[in-house]
Amino acid sequence: MSKLRFQALFDAQNRKPVSLEDNLNRSQLFGENVFNKKSMRQYMTPEAFESVMNAMEFGHKIDRKTADQVASAMKSWALKKGATHYTHWFQPLTGSTAEKHDAFLEVLPNGEALEKFDGAQLVQQEPDASSFPNGGIRNTFEARGYTAWDPTSPAFIYGTALCIPTIFVAYTGEALDNKTPLLKSLQAVDEAATNVAKYFDKNVSKVIATLGWEQEYFLVDSALVNSRPDILLTGRALLGHSPAKGQQLDDHYFGSIPSRAMNFMRELELESLKLGIPVKTRHNEVAPNQFELAPIFEEANLAVDHNSLIMDVMGKVAEKHNFKVLFHEKPFAGINGSGKHNNWSLATNTGVNLLSPGKTPMKNLQFLTFFINTIKAVHDYEELVRASIASAGNDHRLGANEAPPAIISVFIGKQLSDVLDELENITNGKLSPEEKTELKLNVVGKIPEILLDNTDRNRTSPFAFTGNKFEFRAVGSSANCAPPMMILNAIVTKQLIEFKTAVDKLIDEKDMKKDDAIFNVLREYVKLSKKIRFEGDGYSQAWEKEAEKRGLSNHKTTPQALQAKVSKKAIQLFEELNIMNKVEVEARHEIELDEYTLKIQIESRVLGDIARNHIIPTAVRYQNTLIKNVEGLKNIFGKEFENIAKEQLILVKDISEHISKINAKITAMVDERKKANKLEHAEEKAFAYCNKVRPYFDEIRYHCDKLEVLVDDELWPMTKYRELLFTR
Ligand code: ADP
Ligand code: MG
Repeated sequence: MSKLRFQALFDAQNRKPVSLEDNLNRSQLFGENVFNKKSMRQYMTPEAFESVMNAMEFGHKIDRKTADQVASAMKSWALKKGATHYTHWFQPLTGSTAEKHDAFLEVLPNGEALEKFDGAQLVQQEPDASSFPNGGIRNTFEARGYTAWDPTSPAFIYGTALCIPTIFVAYTGEALDNKTPLLKSLQAVDEAATNVAKYFDKNVSKVIATLGWEQEYFLVDSALVNSRPDILLTGRALLGHSPAKGQQLDDHYFGSIPSRAMNFMRELELESLKLGIPVKTRHNEVAPNQFELAPIFEEANLAVDHNSLIMDVMGKVAEKHNFKVLFHEKPFAGINGSGKHNNWSLATNTGVNLLSPGKTPMKNLQFLTFFINTIKAVHDYEELVRASIASAGNDHRLGANEAPPAIISVFIGKQLSDVLDELENITNGKLSPEEKTELKLNVVGKIPEILLDNTDRNRTSPFAFTGNKFEFRAVGSSANCAPPMMILNAIVTKQLIEFKTAVDKLIDEKDMKKDDAIFNVLREYVKLSKKIRFEGDGYSQAWEKEAEKRGLSNHKTTPQALQAKVSKKAIQLFEELNIMNKVEVEARHEIELDEYTLKIQIESRVLGDIARNHIIPTAVRYQNTLIKNVEGLKNIFGKEFENIAKEQLILVKDISEHISKINAKITAMVDERKKANKLEHAEEKAFAYCNKVRPYFDEIRYHCDKLEVLVDDELWPMTKYRELLFTR
C-alpha cells in the first residue's frame, strides 16, 4: 500500500470525535450574529430604523444621512461583537461568494487611531475584482465594477468580519452577479402576482416568492480526500471500482446518523442559527456517507443568501471535524448523486400561501389560478427551465446512464390531475348556475381533501407539486439557487401577466363575470399545458420515448441545454421583464460555457495524470512481481511450468492489455484537447470538450478500474471506494 494511502486510512480510522458543547438554548442563539430588526431597533434612531424597513419592504431609497446613521449603528454593534473588519459580501458569477475584508481601523494624520465606518462605505464599494468572470462586459484594463448594499438581506458577522450583502454590477450598469437579476425577478413576480391576487383579495399589496432549499452533500474524512488527487482537484472520483457493498441495502437512508457526522451537524447547526439561518431538518441520505440538511423556508432572496453562506460554513465546520464536504452532483459513480431541491411558492403580505389549497371555493379558485399558471409557465419555457440547472456536474445527474433524464415535466398527483381533468371538460363561455355549483362542488370543493392525502409523492419528477409548494428537484447540489429561482420567477411573471390580460379581456369584451372569465382562461391553460404533466416513472426508458413523442426537449449535456438561455424567446422574456438585457444574457452564456470547458479540461488533465503517474506504474510493478513468480516456477518445474503458472500468465497479459489501452486513450484524449483548445468561439469549444474529450473519461476509467481489481491491494496507491464511503 502506498505510504499516502496507508497514512490516510490510519488517520481516518483513528479520529477522535471533536468534543462539542451543545447544551445551549438554540432559540436564544438564533440570529445572534445578525444585524436583525431587534439589533437595529436597539442601535438605530427610530427614523433610521423606519427608513431601513421601508427599503426592505417597498424598495424605498435610503438617503445619505440615513446611510451614515445605519453605518454608525452597524459599526457599534459589530465592534461590540468583536468584529475587526467589514466586507461587502457578494455572489459573482463563479457561483460562490466573494469577500474582501477592510479593517475598521483608520490612522489619522496626527497619528491617532480609530474605528471608522460611514454611509459611503456601507452603500457602495469598488473592489478591484477584475478577475471575476464577466463574459466580456468589462475590459480588464477598465476593471470598474462596484458593489452596492442590498438592504433586503441583513448584515451579519462571520468570523471577525461584518458582512454586508451586496449586488455586484459593472460601472456601465450590467449585472456581474447572481443577485441582481434575482432581485429584479422578485420585483417582477411581486407586481404580476399582486395584480392577479387582487382578483381574490383587494387587500393584497405585495407578493413575495418563498424558497426552502434542501441541501444534499457527502462527508468524507479529510485525510482520505487528500489521498485522492481527483476528488481534491475536481470534487469527484474520476476512477474507482464500485465496492461490493454500495447502497443496495438502503441501510443508510434515514438510518441513525454516525456519531462523527452528528457532531459535525450539531456544530454546523449552532453556527448557522447564530447567522440567522433557520436550519430545521437533518438526516442520512440514500448513499453511504451522504446526508441532507434543510431549513425553514424564507423569502427567496434571503434564502438564496443563506444557502450560499451555509455552504461556506459547512466547509469551515467540516475542517474542524476532519471532514471534507463534497457538494459535487455525482462524486461517486454507481451510487446516488446529490441535489438541492428548491421548494418554491408565492405568499401575500396578508399571510396567504398562494399555492395552498384553501377552505372556501373562492380561496380554491385562487389556488387553482396560481397552480395552473405555474404549470403553464413551465410548459411554455421547459427548455429554459432545463437550462437554468445546467452544469458539468449536474450532467451526471441528468441524462447520464444512472440518473433521471434531462426532461422537464411536472408531477401533481392523482387528485389534482383529476381536478384539472374535470376543469378541462366544463363547457365554453358563461357557466350556467348548475355548472357553477357543480364545478364548485366537484372541482373547487374537492381540493382541501388533497391536503389530507399528501402521500402520493413521485421521487422521480424534476418538478413536483408537494401539497402547498412546487419542488424543483433537478437543481444541482453545488449550484447557487439564484439562477434557477430567477428563471422560475421570470417565467411565472410572464405567465401571470398574460393570464391577467386574457381574463380582463373576457370581462371587458365578452361581458363575463370575473369567476367565469378566470375559469375559462384556466381551462384553456389546462388544455394547452397538458403535455408537460407526467405522473409516471421519470427514470424509465418508456418516459424518454413518450416525452419525445410529446415534443418535450431532452438536452443531455450542458452546452446543448444552455442554448435555450440565449434563444430569442429567452432574451425577449428577460428584456421585457427588465431582468437582464441582451448583453447581460449573452455574457452569462459565455461565462457558463467557459466554466463548463474549464471543468472538463481540468478533469481530463487530472485523469490523464493519475492514470499515467499512479495507475500504470503500479500495474507494471505488480506485473513484474508476477513475471518473477513465473520465472521462479519455470526454474522449479521446468517444462511443466506453463500449466502451473497458467493464471499468472493470463494476468500478465491482461495487465498489459489494460495498460496499452489506457495509454492509447490518453494520447487520443490529449489530441482532442489540443484541437479543442485551438477553437476560438466559447460555444464551439464547449461542444468539443463535451463531445470529443469527455467520452474518453469512461473508457480510461473502465481500464483503470479493471486494474484495480487485478492488482494486489497492498500496492494500490489510490484510496478505494469502500474506504471513502464506509469510514465513519
Ligand atoms: P422532503 O424532504 O420530503 O421534500 P422537507 O420537509 O425535508 O421535505 O423539506 C421541505 C422544504 O420545503 C423545507 O425546506 C420547507 O421549509 C420548505 N417549504 C415548506 N413550505 C414552503 C413554502 N410555502 N414555500 C417554500 N418552501 C416551503
Ligand atoms: Mg425534497
